[in-house]
Amino acid sequence: MGFDLNDLAWRLFSGKVAYFIDFFIVPPIIAALLVWNSLVFGRDHAGQILIAFAGGLLLWTFVEYFIHRLLFHHVWPLKQMHDLHHENPEALYGAPPFLGPVLIFALVDAPLEYLDQGWAAAATAGVMAGYFLYISHHYLDHAKPRFMARVLARSRRRHMLHHHADKDTNFGVSTSLWDHVFRTEFKGRH
Ligand SMILES: [Zn+2]
Ligand SMILES: [Zn+2]
Repeated sequence: MGFDLNDLAWRLFSGKVAYFIDFFIVPPIIAALLVWNSLVFGRDHAGQILIAFAGGLLLWTFVEYFIHRLLFHHVWPLKQMHDLHHENPEALYGAPPFLGPVLIFALVDAPLEYLDQGWAAAATAGVMAGYFLYISHHYLDHAKPRFMARVLARSRRRHMLHHHADKDTNFGVSTSLWDHVFRTEFKGRH
């Protein structure tokens, strides 16, 4: 059998390799942004880095909630892709690799660079950390490994209710914060 470009593309953008690529590239990006930031702006900017990082993290959780609630459940073609995940939750249907990090650089880092490079790098690292929290949480919610089972029990139960009880509730994966704010937490009996 000869070389098949379609086959190569399929392997790169679906299945296990594609699903886990972001797990390996995101932590070094976060580390690089924070190291670069502290080298360039020095230790006296630790407070600024911390505030921007925490702000980025919080921003991600908010964005994650709306991506799931509005885009994944209502907008073509994301809805169709997300439906596949709802039909077959154990299969490894993830976001296309690299898309999350690229969009974060384009939509968070690039605009903030115009204001201040230090704030931009730290806030981008925070958003990226939120994205990492989201993909790890979602993977662990479904993979149910034995380690950290107790720590993750609540979040797993919350996400399983979204899948099996009422898909119009519990949109938050990395945190239930915005479900409480927007009153979409699961309230029924389970
Ligand atoms: Zn899920
Ligand atoms: Zn969903």
